[in-house]
Amino acid sequence: MDGERFTSKLLEIEVINEDTKVLKFSVPENFNFNAGQHVTLAFYREDKRILRSYSIFSSPSEKGYILIYFKKVGDGFASNKLFNMKIGEEIEVKGPLGVFKVENKEKDLVFISAGTGFGPFMSMILDLLKKEFKKRIILIRGYRKESGLCFKEELDSLEMKFPNFKYYDVLSQPNSADFLLKGRVQNFLEKLIPNGFLGDLYICGLKEMVSEVREKLNEMGFLKEQIFFERYD
Ligand SMILES: Cc1cc2nc3c(=O)[nH]c(=O)nc-3n(C[C@H](O)[C@H](O)[C@H](O)COP(=O)(O)OP(=O)(O)OC[C@H]3O[C@@H](n4cnc5c(N)ncnc54)[C@H](O)[C@@H]3O)c2cc1C
Repeated sequence: MDGERFTSKLLEIEVINEDTKVLKFSVPENFNFNAGQHVTLAFYREDKRILRSYSIFSSPSEKGYILIYFKKVGDGFASNKLFNMKIGEEIEVKGPLGVFKVENKEKDLVFISAGTGFGPFMSMILDLLKKEFKKRIILIRGYRKESGLCFKEELDSLEMKFPNFKYYDVLSQPNSADFLLKGRVQNFLEKLIPNGFLGDLYICGLKEMVSEVREKLNEMGFLKEQIFFERYD
């Protein structure tokens, strides 16, 4: 199924913090996707149809539903509508869409995200580890404050279970003075990516972050062919 349109029901809501939620939407039983792909959701302002894309956060092995991990941005129309949706409400979905996916599963991988850019990486990491991926996976997530940090329990237990998986959280404005990785992800790439790393690197976030991370990786000597990215704006 490629880019089918269907009506989905909101099944569950998980509140992460004051502006971020994970929503569970129903999908047809035969809905299949590659980890990293997204869906579009349709919103209506008067007669105007507004489409917005959201990465699928859940693993492709979960059937009958998908998870969306999103942030309400300022007075953004769609994200506010989504934030206010109630369980049982319906929405028009189109998907799966997009070509963002793990290109080469024989290589070590680094995933670098800012904010909700972590979404497609959660799906990819769950999928890879479930399929007994043996190479190394390093996830570097950037958030503003501690309240943005999510799914730490799940990531900690993946780290315990899979010695080839390691993750780091970087905070640009931590409340705690003791927080070690203080700054933006761009500032920690040299420290956190092992010397001589020969694998592929994936980036997801807003365009400014993506271009700054790409620039930094270029400076560090990584080749264009090793770098894959998805921009949210
Ligand atoms: C392929 C793709 C996948 C996406 N996946 C996700 C996702 O999984 N989760 C998610 O929250 N958003 C995601 N987005 C962004 C999403 O589509 C919307 O742009 C976002 O929800 C804002 O829409 P809006 O109508 O509320 O605000 P608008 O008025 O359209 O946008 C306001 C501004 O908010 C900024 N913005 C957009 N997305 C974010 C964000 N996530 N965090 C902070 N600022 C942002 C942009 O600079 C934008 O110009 C994705 C975008 C693309 C293209």
